[in-house]
Amino acid sequence: MTILVTGGAGYIGSHTVLALLERGEDVVVVDNLSNASAESLRRVAALTGKAATFCQGDIRDIACLNALFSQHPITRVIHFAGLKAVGESTRKPLEYYQNNVAGTLVLLEAMRQADVRQLIFSSSATVYGADSPVPYRETMPTGGTSSPYGSSKFMVEQILQDFARANAHFAIIALRYFNPVGAHPSGRIGEDPLGIPNNLLPYIAQVAVGKREKLGVFGADFPTRDGTGVRDYIHVMDVAAGHLAAMDHLPQISAFEAYNLGAGVGYTVLEMVNAFEQASGVKIPYQILPRRDGDLAAFWADVHRAKQQLGWQVTRDIHQMMQDLWRWQKNNPHGYAVGE
Ligand code: NAD
Ligand code: UDP
Repeated sequence: MTILVTGGAGYIGSHTVLALLERGEDVVVVDNLSNASAESLRRVAALTGKAATFCQGDIRDIACLNALFSQHPITRVIHFAGLKAVGESTRKPLEYYQNNVAGTLVLLEAMRQADVRQLIFSSSATVYGADSPVPYRETMPTGGTSSPYGSSKFMVEQILQDFARANAHFAIIALRYFNPVGAHPSGRIGEDPLGIPNNLLPYIAQVAVGKREKLGVFGADFPTRDGTGVRDYIHVMDVAAGHLAAMDHLPQISAFEAYNLGAGVGYTVLEMVNAFEQASGVKIPYQILPRRDGDLAAFWADVHRAKQQLGWQVTRDIHQMMQDLWRWQKNNPHGYAVGE
């Protein structure tokens, strides 16, 4: 019984592959390395003493997927592969729909041909759109997304529901991540964004190692505790554990289910800056900038469904997120590009 992990060399994928290997699973990774380095998987192998089989390939290439399904006894797929930068998606919508939507269609077709019936999909809190009240619950309507990235996740969820409804022997879980941050506690694997980070924590970490001068805080006039945006941050190792819990639950579901993966609490930008400073002992200079287009004031997850049905909840707090992030960034100031 082998698990195919698409996008497994990336940030969340590499941490999940590590957790799978530690549990003794056989893993095949397909990744086109458009936003990752194969070094992540070499380090996962060094940390676990086991290696995933790696294939550099694209999920839009059905011949590549067919070959993987015929060469390995794959019974389940965890599907991370896709593009994820919200701002970039507004400039390159076709690339986002091609990778995220068309890519998933190709994967589903290959799974159907190979009769592989179990799938976990990386969805996002963004599917709740701009108008849902907080905390977000899985029973709320989705849609009303404000970027091609968000729309691509919403569309894929629709496709998965329709597909699962029409093919009752399929079991599909969409995991709606809130804000994954942090790194493996070894400091050997972590998030390695290309260019200027879009997300808050990688930006803070790059300021801390002197790669960026100061953090820009996007808006201090939101109706929140200190005026800055509130998000539900979740340690990437808890996200990885959520995938293991979801995988164990797959045989018990029919058709399609969605689960929030979040901590269930929100922190402001300035609280995150403060927590990072405490964990690292490094001062983070910042300036308040205008709001970023499309940013919501505050959202966080209702986490009851995942707790009740998956038996999963977060076990790492904000301090552990910061300590692990800092260890990774300090030890790898250039990410996986050693010696740059
Ligand atoms: P990531 O960019 O680090 O990982 C995605 C991986 O997929 C990369 O290794 C990339 O090289 C690969 N990839 C992209 N297109 C591909 C294709 N067509 N064929 C094969 N490989 C391809 O991103 P991540 O943060 O690990 O996110 C993983 C998934 O989780 C994504 O689908 C993302 O949208 C989703 N997600 C991420 C977050 C977050 O904040 N990180 C939040 C919600 C959802
Ligand atoms: N943010 C910020 N400066 C940055 C990046 C992000 O102030 O350089 C804020 C952003 O406005 C939001 C929070 O930090 O309130 C989290 O942003 P991120 O992009 O990490 O996640 P998302 O907005 O996708 O939830």
